[in-house]
Amino acid sequence: MFIDCSEKELFVFKKIANAAAELQMPAFVIGGFVRDKIIGRPTKDADIVCLGDGILLANQVAARFNPRPQVAFFKNFGTAQIKLGEFEVEFVGARKESYRSDSRNPEVEPGTIKDDQDRRDFTINALAISLNKENYGDLIDPFNGINDIKAKIIRTPLAPVQTFSDDPLRMMRAIRFASQLGFSIEEATFQAIKDNKERITIVSQERITDELNKIMLSNKPSVGWELLFTSGLLSIIFPQMVDLAGAEYIDGKGHKDNFYHTLQVLDNISAHTSDLWLRWAAVLHDIAKPVTKRFEEGHGWTFHGHEVVGARMVPKIFNKLKLPLNEKMRFVQKLVELHLRPISLTKENITDSAIRRLIFDAGDDIDALMMLCSADITSKNKFKVKRYLANFELVKKRIEEVEELDKIRNWQPPVTGEIIMETFGLTPGRNVGLIKDAIREAILDGIISNSYQEAYNYMLKKGEELNLKPVA
Ligand code: ATP
Repeated sequence: MFIDCSEKELFVFKKIANAAAELQMPAFVIGGFVRDKIIGRPTKDADIVCLGDGILLANQVAARFNPRPQVAFFKNFGTAQIKLGEFEVEFVGARKESYRSDSRNPEVEPGTIKDDQDRRDFTINALAISLNKENYGDLIDPFNGINDIKAKIIRTPLAPVQTFSDDPLRMMRAIRFASQLGFSIEEATFQAIKDNKERITIVSQERITDELNKIMLSNKPSVGWELLFTSGLLSIIFPQMVDLAGAEYIDGKGHKDNFYHTLQVLDNISAHTSDLWLRWAAVLHDIAKPVTKRFEEGHGWTFHGHEVVGARMVPKIFNKLKLPLNEKMRFVQKLVELHLRPISLTKENITDSAIRRLIFDAGDDIDALMMLCSADITSKNKFKVKRYLANFELVKKRIEEVEELDKIRNWQPPVTGEIIMETFGLTPGRNVGLIKDAIREAILDGIISNSYQEAYNYMLKKGEELNLKPVA
């Protein structure tokens, strides 16, 4: 074998080779599996392309295993899939494709292995390994993809304009692979992305966002975002992000370039977490800076309220990008809204109640919020960063101490609505809410302690103010 496979993979490939030989149907391992093996990345699934009916081959292969695995197939696409434990193998007949300009649905007909390699997106994704007797295990590499893997280059197998115009999603894929693998995009290929960027509009938002999320999950997502920006794709798929770019100057005073700042925050946080939503919170934390930007005489640039306006923008952006409108979105929203709070606590002599209030507002997401805030410290001045981070550590410590003492995270005040209703003989209504809120605020502000007795007494006092009398 040209590539280094596990024993299990070799065992499966032998079975496929035998089944293919019996059907007299040449078969090859192709695409991402071969690429990743050569690079040395972990692989979990393999694509098999055969010169004939992929579903038939899959069934013949399945029959050689005991117990016989299920064959999931899609007749319309002529593809079939077998799961062998963790290892998923997909079968498809080799295809030749031709595209019309108004659609990304190609006309497909059976083809040779070379036809199939021609329709692949990049040279590094077009490598095949033969499973046939005469050259079992040999690499079939008509576009010298192996060299491009070694040189870390993304390049289309055919003329890039053709490849991108046939399926514009490939422009996103080029950038995604550059970001995931740390490869660079060859010049003519990148120029063709710039020239064809408008064609991205014929691709469904789901497919675009899939690629965006893969960029987000790469080790250094700024690589992908920067390529999206410089190619011009970003202004089409996510214009609010482009609005962050650039620095304006008045009276010699400028502000930082919030696009590059955001990318640095994203890379900073990505070094500590692979949580996609926390990474999205980093991307969106300053998204409202352009719309809240003001120049105040004698003061300089301000972005008052950008955290609140930003939080309000999150649902619209999630909706447009077809990201889920569920608790993940609410998490991102919350982090955007609260992202200035911990930093503000590093400034003055901070009271316990300010800390308590932050823990209460952030709830279970306090650790995520703290991670976002330390990632947000991006000054070019090393000493400043060091000082900020040191102050920040103090806030973290205070949070731990207050939390240890008060257990405010996911906290419910000790006197419930039921107790209030019972005490004053009330039915659900405004007064119950008023007393409940007053107790919560009093505890958060440290006016009373977080104990049943003090909360109960406070309830009686509030009730009196509202002319309520306890029932006997
Ligand atoms: P990943 O598994 O990380 O998503 P991959 O390239 O390994 O990436 P797929 O996206 O499933 O896996 O694609 C498998 C192969 O199919 C690719 O390696 C490539 O050869 C081909 N391919 C996938 N999408 C396209 C496309 N839009 N245009 C051309 N070829 C494609």
